[in-house]
Amino acid sequence: MSATEAPDSLLGHIIDPRVALPAWLSPHTTRLLARREAFPHALLLSGGAGAALDSLAEALAAGLLCDAPLTDGAPCGDCAACRLLAAGTHPDLLWLSPAEADEDAGRKASSQIRIEAVRQLIGTLALRPHHGATRVSVIDPAEAMNAATANALLKVLEEPPPGNVLLLLSLRPLRLLPTLRSRCLQLRVVRPEGVGWAAAVGDGSVDAPENGSSGTVDPALAELAAFLRDPAPEAAARAVWPAQRALLDALARGARLGVPAAARTAGLTLPAALDVLSRWVHDLARVQAGGTPRFLPGRATPLAKVAAEADRQGLMHMGARLAEWQRHANHPLLASLTVADILLEYRAELFPAARAA
Ligand SMILES: [Zn+2]
Repeated sequence: MSATEAPDSLLGHIIDPRVALPAWLSPHTTRLLARREAFPHALLLSGGAGAALDSLAEALAAGLLCDAPLTDGAPCGDCAACRLLAAGTHPDLLWLSPAEADEDAGRKASSQIRIEAVRQLIGTLALRPHHGATRVSVIDPAEAMNAATANALLKVLEEPPPGNVLLLLSLRPLRLLPTLRSRCLQLRVVRPEGVGWAAAVGDGSVDAPENGSSGTVDPALAELAAFLRDPAPEAAARAVWPAQRALLDALARGARLGVPAAARTAGLTLPAALDVLSRWVHDLARVQAGGTPRFLPGRATPLAKVAAEADRQGLMHMGARLAEWQRHANHPLLASLTVADILLEYRAELFPAARAA
């Protein structure tokens, strides 16, 4: 590799410019791309659903890199740049993520973006874009940079060389260096309320409420259900995983959930905690929508009690978060996640008024 070219690990990300964004995300792209010339040089996209952040970053990159964008700034899908994006060969799209495992090379997956990779990125940014006037660099996720790595990026983030746009993605923006955040325009991506619960958790067995809110599916909850195929796990859990049962007991306390104690439950692993919490949240959503528990029928009473006090939108956010974590169960993004982290987030989302320890 010569010093004047982007290293292979930064290239090759495939974007299909013709794939439409979910409707709730497209106002963000329209607003930002409508004035390409005023596009922020460093943008921090944060929020609950990582897949949504990826989609948004891809749509923004495609709009910025397209040679002949439509009037609303969306990519045309047909120009040379769009075709390069679809082939994963656009030279001015750099996508920086922790290294994935490579069995052939005997390399394990990393949870960190290496400082060398950031230095290579910075070196590339100093050059003119190859194809058009703009280069887009995506850092996904930004919290995979440790302090030293983030520091290396600060200067270029403050004033990138002309023609460069940097997009930082973060599920947990509060974990980023404040100096890093302050150098970016921040856009928090929140899934709006208004997607129907009953259909969202629907598997055909729940009664749709009569209020007409059915008909739209919350993809996160539908996805969550797909991870939880076993319809009657509780008996098995009772026998096999006392830790999961203990966590369910703790969750029954609703807003009074004691996070440190629950997280210290003996034998409770992160996958086990995710599994239990996913079932619990899924069933809470069903009960709140007037349905019956699907995964935890034996817990109908505490579910009803907790569902009555849980914040509806927070519950939806948590469903999206859990689906995200389940989807990336082996992703480096999750390497630093702890049981206490997910329980703290659960409690903050569902019981925003509670400030108990
Ligand atoms: Zn195009």
